[in-house]
Parts: sequence; structure tokens; C-alpha cells
Amino acid sequence: MGLTTALKRDAASQRIEWLKLLSIPLSSFARLFGCWHTEMSRPFTFSNESYRACLACGARRRFDIHSWKMTGPFYFAQPSGERRAVDA
Ligand SMILES: [Zn+2]
Repeated sequence: MGLTTALKRDAASQRIEWLKLLSIPLSSFARLFGCWHTEMSRPFTFSNESYRACLACGARRRFDIHSWKMTGPFYFAQPSGERRAVDA
């Protein structure tokens, strides 16, 4: 019985390794291995600009509300950026 139980235990620990792999968050998985951006959010319009965001990795792409199509390359929104103090 020694050998078979040892083999079974091996298989069980391998299964745990696979489960660990599966628990990697989808977003970091997408960033590591490249994302096909297959799941896009609905279009958002923000200060005269429309975009759709990838639900997996967060990449954005401009959305033309007139032709109802996405245009241009994917980009990632800058974390804080853009806001600059405007002092006179
Ligand atoms: Zn994506």
C-alpha cells in the first residue's frame, strides 16, 4: 500500500499547484501574457471623449459614438497625471 498512497499524495499536491496557478488574478495574467481585449466594457463618455475599457486588463480604446466603432490603439490611463495646478 505504501507506493500507491505515495503516488496518490503526489497527484494531490500537483493538483494544488494547478489551483494556485488558476488563482492568479486575471488582470495580472493578462498583463503578463498579453491580452486580446475580448471583453470590453460599455462605452464611457468623459469630457467629450468616449472610450471602452477592457474588463480583463483595463486597457482603454477610443470609441467613436458617431460610427459606433472603436478607433486607434489601446492605451492605459495615467494613474494620477493630467491634473496640474493652474495658478495665475
Ligand atoms: Zn485587455
